[in-house]
Amino acid sequence: MAEDQGVKTTHMAIVLGIGLGVVMLIVMSLILSILINRRDRRTVSRSSKNTDERLRSLDAVSPTRTLEEWWATTKGSLGLPEAVDGHFVCAVCLDEVKRTEEIRELQCLHVFHRECLETWYLGDHFNCPLCHREYYVPKSPRRLDYLWMV
Ligand SMILES: [Zn+2]
Ligand SMILES: [Zn+2]
Repeated sequence: MAEDQGVKTTHMAIVLGIGLGVVMLIVMSLILSILINRRDRRTVSRSSKNTDERLRSLDAVSPTRTLEEWWATTKGSLGLPEAVDGHFVCAVCLDEVKRTEEIRELQCLHVFHRECLETWYLGDHFNCPLCHREYYVPKSPRRLDYLWMV
């Protein structure tokens, strides 16, 4: 009888051990997945904040307007007669830019769909997709230091 009980206790211990092990594994994987999820969310929020900041810097050199507004002011400053009608094709997606669509204009007077130029800019392209003129100088502390020394 005593031997029997001893065997039963060992069995119980083994079952308990395995059970505990399984529970530990589940808990560990849960903790791990929570940690990984949290890290993912943090990188996502950081990069979207970064994107906002970067787009604000783009706004400084390339304001957003509708093609209609832009053309009305640009036509005047180029001294073009009122009757001239502008027809624009976005060089990024090769689609026509419609009057009511939002555009971004570069210093070289080339215009693109707002989203198209934003994608181009966020891909670290800082020159005009059409004439390759630089429209934005990325902020770089090292370059500034260099300038100070000169
Ligand atoms: Zn486009
Ligand atoms: Zn250009």
